[in-house]
Amino acid sequence: MLENFTPPPFITIAIPFFFLLMLVEAILGYIKKENYFQFGDSIADLSTGILSQLSGIFLKSVGLFGYFWVYENYRIFELKPDSVLNWIIAILLWDFFYYWFHRISHEVNFFWASHIIHHHSEEYNLFVALRQTSLGGISSWIFYIPMALIGIDPWLYLGAGQLNLIYQYWVHTKSIKTLGPIAEFFLSTPSHHRVHHAINPKYIDKNHGGIFIIWDRIFGTFQKEEEPPVYGTVKPLRSYNPLYANYHYFLDLLKMSVKAEGLLNKIKVCFAKPGWIPPMDGKPAYQIEPQEVQPEKYPKYIPEIKPELKRYNLIWFILILLFGFIYLVFYTKLSWSEQIFYSILITFHLLIINGNNESKKWAWYLEILRLISLTSLGIYLPFVYVIPLSVLSILSGIYFYFVMNKSIGMNTENLLANRKINLN
Ligand SMILES: [Zn+2]
Ligand SMILES: [Zn+2]
Repeated sequence: MLENFTPPPFITIAIPFFFLLMLVEAILGYIKKENYFQFGDSIADLSTGILSQLSGIFLKSVGLFGYFWVYENYRIFELKPDSVLNWIIAILLWDFFYYWFHRISHEVNFFWASHIIHHHSEEYNLFVALRQTSLGGISSWIFYIPMALIGIDPWLYLGAGQLNLIYQYWVHTKSIKTLGPIAEFFLSTPSHHRVHHAINPKYIDKNHGGIFIIWDRIFGTFQKEEEPPVYGTVKPLRSYNPLYANYHYFLDLLKMSVKAEGLLNKIKVCFAKPGWIPPMDGKPAYQIEPQEVQPEKYPKYIPEIKPELKRYNLIWFILILLFGFIYLVFYTKLSWSEQIFYSILITFHLLIINGNNESKKWAWYLEILRLISLTSLGIYLPFVYVIPLSVLSILSGIYFYFVMNKSIGMNTENLLANRKINLN
């Protein structure tokens, strides 16, 4: 059954509207004279979103296999996607289980390690909505298994999940202050979700609801938006690297587990609340308490970048984004080896572009390798594409050389040292 299964297309249909809404948000910001975006941060958000979709190609079937197996063998009822009532039930059930999955993702280290990436950004805008984990697919499906037991048809189950995700997209905005008392009571709104992304101590681990906020009201995790939120994570990431953003917390947990004293504490590190420090280095265990923060005093991570390099990176990022989108639409027509090749290639390009946005020296050197790797597409593409790709690579290489030479000639060390912490 799984082999012939075609997932619902809702998210693919929604993607152009996602970009259209970003444009609306930018226009609103311009009218209100408020800057919602930060160049490098937005590219980093989209890069993690692309990586998440790429890993989904390989991980999706893990979760679907488990769901199909329980549904085929143990379902109590059978709810097909052929009635409005079944859709309402599926949407409500998904949202309920999402609340618990999301809450546990904040309260248990192992799950926080995958979810933290969604909270890294110190901005709050529609790009942040697309900042998603590449590793969540391994474990998230477990939380929805009760839906298979109840007998929610797999297509209906995935459809309800996609609608939930689409709903959650638009709440990532500062441009809408409030939706009025009735909507604010029942629904997860931009105001509620701003609280969720904030690191002000009173806002931490609050408002986990996907579509509905009523679960937070019932289970005691609701918090109204009061003072201005400060966005990000208690320990800031200070990096645009999309791979590091995915694995850094797992690495931290591993290091902590190795250093922890006693076998039980080594295991507990995985299941403890984020911020719990095990007994180590002769000191007893303790919990890190978040500090009070104020937006106007919070130092955001905004590395300095030459305008010429910024333009160059933007053009290349748009090209890779388009290529990634085409690949994600057509990947099922490719063999496994081609899928692995293109996924690694896109990841490599995004890694370098983000490194360039941080003016990282290693990215400058790898940029040449990135341009050369473009011509390697000729292995899989018809030969006719090799010539324009090679011309594009050579022209880019010449431009990049002159931009960097200018930077190096001017003040390379300053540029690197001046990854200044901006207040804005
Ligand atoms: Zn969250
Ligand atoms: Zn969010």
